[in-house]
Amino acid sequence: MSLDRCPCGSSLLFDACCGRYVQGGLLAPDPASLMRSRYTAFCRNDIAYLKATWHPETYPEDLGSEEASNWIKLEIIDSFEEGDEGEVEFKASLIFGDKLEILHELSYFDKIDGRWLYHSGDFQNENEKPQKIAKSAPCPCGSGKTFKQCHF
Ligand SMILES: [Zn+2]
Ligand SMILES: [Zn+2]
Repeated sequence: MSLDRCPCGSSLLFDACCGRYVQGGLLAPDPASLMRSRYTAFCRNDIAYLKATWHPETYPEDLGSEEASNWIKLEIIDSFEEGDEGEVEFKASLIFGDKLEILHELSYFDKIDGRWLYHSGDFQNENEKPQKIAKSAPCPCGSGKTFKQCHF
């Protein structure tokens, strides 16, 4: 039992939110829930869950070698499903060194044998450069502290 808030930003506890899928063995019922749970798995560096929810055709074999990233925020912009196909548009923010990077992606999902799987995605902001964060600025994670006191 964990009393941590879910990293996906739902304001629910992890166990009551993405934890049901990431650890509890339930299947995410729709593409948006799967997207949230995969974001949470990225935050927790849960490679096994990412692999289990990735379409085998597109799973990158080198995924496990990456270090956990400093993901700070997920925003689901839109989601859609029809039959065995779904799409989710989202923005995920991460802090990389002293820069804020926002990944804006349109992701494609397929339902196979009753499980939603991430297939692939198209970046929507490829030309946007990461923004440097001033040390005295409010931390982009929303903690209320300055960047220097928080994620720096
Ligand atoms: Zn969650
Ligand atoms: Zn912070």
